[in-house]
Amino acid sequence: MMNEEIPDLTAFDEAALDRAFAALRRQAEDAAATLGLPQAVEGFRLQWLGRKQGRLNEISSRWLKSAPAEAKKAIGQRFNGLKAEVERLLEQASGAGPSDAALSAEALDITLPGTRRLTGAEHPITRTMNEIVGVFAALGYSVGVGPEVETDFYNFESMNFPPGHPARDTQDTLVIANQDRKPLRDRLLLRTHTSPVQMRTMERQPPPVRIVIPGKVHRNDSADATHSPIFHQVEGLCVDTNIAFSDLKGTLDHAMKALFGPSVKTRFFPSFFPFTEPSADVQISCIFCGGKGCRKCKQSGWIELLGCGMVDPAVFAFAAQKQPAYDAKKISGFAFGMGVERIAMMKYGISEIGSFYSGDMRFLGQFV
Ligand SMILES: [Zn+2]
Repeated sequence: MMNEEIPDLTAFDEAALDRAFAALRRQAEDAAATLGLPQAVEGFRLQWLGRKQGRLNEISSRWLKSAPAEAKKAIGQRFNGLKAEVERLLEQASGAGPSDAALSAEALDITLPGTRRLTGAEHPITRTMNEIVGVFAALGYSVGVGPEVETDFYNFESMNFPPGHPARDTQDTLVIANQDRKPLRDRLLLRTHTSPVQMRTMERQPPPVRIVIPGKVHRNDSADATHSPIFHQVEGLCVDTNIAFSDLKGTLDHAMKALFGPSVKTRFFPSFFPFTEPSADVQISCIFCGGKGCRKCKQSGWIELLGCGMVDPAVFAFAAQKQPAYDAKKISGFAFGMGVERIAMMKYGISEIGSFYSGDMRFLGQFV
């Protein structure tokens, strides 16, 4: 590091002055080239520009003041040049500001259109599921959740599908491997419906119960335009004293009108589900043709949309093992379930179920 003495000027001709100032300029440049830390930059500033001990100050007082009158102008010009150079070096080292060239290279044309960032939005399945849940939340239902990897007991047995019962074959099940040594009721599978959450909820709380259960379910189905091995359901359960089939009809009629519009009609047909008795399939008047008959409703004017029924006393008997208040002689209830994809496809006019899962932004972007 330089801290060389500033020599006295001995000659005052142009060439001698140029040499003397060039030497000082080199010293300043050499010193500036090694600067890095802010303290070092400050040291450089004090060394050259300091008011009392700075080298420029010393040059000014020793060279300029002691010079013969005719040389003062030439020294003054060179001194100003050196001072500007030192200030430039200092500015560069302290990063006070980039050069004009650097600035113009990075210049931003603020009149150009910006980069548009996509705003996130709910997936149509999530949105439909939330809409359905919202309809029932307004009726006082809360949301129940449970695991997707279930035991045979919760998925089937407690829902009144006894071992070996043919109803099990209607839900082609994906089971977890290597569990042959476990008792059947403890074997794990991917839940085929959201119904096990009915039992899990009843085991946790005595009646009354009013829950909706949105969730993902799995079946060993091959995919086609309207089927997927993974899909979503919203299930509902209402248990209380004096719950009648008319409550079920009124609740679902209201829910369908809330989802599809006040002009939608519902009708109920006898059906079978192991966990409800009696059971019914629910049809709504075709939302595409208003019931006149079209391709979507196969000219019938009606579309089958969900299953439901009064909770089977056998299901209450399983719940009563942990919560004795589920006494089928004192309480009653209804349950219903619907496929979220099917409803979303109807609401948004989607013909391929696979569109929901492909992650294709051209499809998903329509729902933003
Ligand atoms: Zn129709």
